[in-house]
Amino acid sequence: MLATWKSEMQLTEFDYDVVVVGGGAVGLSAGYYCAEAGMNTVVVERHERFCEEASTHNSGVLHSGFNPEPGTLKSRLNIEGLSLMYRKSEEWKFRTKKVGTMVAATTKQEERRLLLLKADGERNGVTGLELLRLRVTTYPWALMPTWRRRSLCIWRMSRR
Ligand SMILES: Cc1cc2nc3c(=O)[nH]c(=O)nc-3n(C[C@H](O)[C@H](O)[C@H](O)COP(=O)(O)OP(=O)(O)OC[C@H]3O[C@@H](n4cnc5c(N)ncnc54)[C@H](O)[C@@H]3O)c2cc1C
Repeated sequence: MLATWKSEMQLTEFDYDVVVVGGGAVGLSAGYYCAEAGMNTVVVERHERFCEEASTHNSGVLHSGFNPEPGTLKSRLNIEGLSLMYRKSEEWKFRTKKVGTMVAATTKQEERRLLLLKADGERNGVTGLELLRLRVTTYPWALMPTWRRRSLCIWRMSRR
């Protein structure tokens, strides 16, 4: 059973196998899987509602997996987490939008970094990374004033 703590409850009322402190994405996920494994679990949250902090005040990006250093736990979890997120969005009926990923280099130095980033992505197992020389037209130019007219970009079509 997964219970939520109410501020009027006394500490002596606690009788749980697991107490998770913090009801953001990480705490709720930990609480969910503990409860699913049959542990009597409570998630305590200091705000009135869950996910009032980083988990709802972020950029909302499902990272493709080319940023984490290859061979690290973070890179593995990023790749696994991405497909898990799409599966869960269908199972739990929350919306995800597949808009693709683009990283642009705005200087020659950044272009060298971009090539390393693409190589890291491929070592991490990210498929479908393409390098393209973008001819910037009116739309992204207005949004991204630091981009050069012919910025080198990594582009990845969003897929599972
Ligand atoms: C600016 C920004 C942009 C980001 N963009 C992205 C992105 O695009 N994609 C992505 O995947 N990740 C992104 N992240 C990272 C992601 O948001 C975090 O990794 C994730 O939300 C962390 O979840 P959390 O549960 O650890 O933390 P939080 O969501 O911050 O949850 C922690 C909870 O613990 C509670 N708490 C703290 N102390 C106590 C206490 N003593 N008692 C009770 N409750 C307590 C807090 O109130 C809070 O609700 C971004 C992060 C930031 C800051």
